[in-house]
Amino acid sequence: MNQDQRGQFSVRLIQKCPVCNNDYNEGRVEILEENEYSFLAYLTCGFCASSIIVRVMTMPHGLVGNAILTDLTAAEVAVYGAEPSVVSDQVLAIHQLIDSNGFFIEKMRKI
Ligand SMILES: [Zn+2]
Repeated sequence: MNQDQRGQFSVRLIQKCPVCNNDYNEGRVEILEENEYSFLAYLTCGFCASSIIVRVMTMPHGLVGNAILTDLTAAEVAVYGAEPSVVSDQVLAIHQLIDSNGFFIEKMRKI
C-alpha cells in the first residue's frame, strides 16, 4: 500500500473522533505496521487526546476496516501486537478450568 492510499483510507474511514466528534488531523496518524494487503494505524485526537487503533485490510470484495478506542500508547500497541495470539485451545482450557472447578470467583479472590 503506498503512502497516498494510506492517507486516503485513514481519512475516509475514520474522519471524526468517536469521543468528541472533532475531525482527526492527519498529522496525528501513525502507521504502526503495514504489508501489501493491510495496515495498522494509531490515531490520536488533537482535541481530547483519545486514541484509536485502526486496521484496514484489502479483501476480495473491497476494503474492510476495524477501529477500537484504546488507552494504550502507540509503543504499547506495537509491543503487544508482537506477542503470540491467543489460540482456541487456550480459550477451551480456561473454559474447562472454570467449568470443572466451580466457584471460580471465590477461587480467584483467594489468589
Ligand atoms: Zn476527540
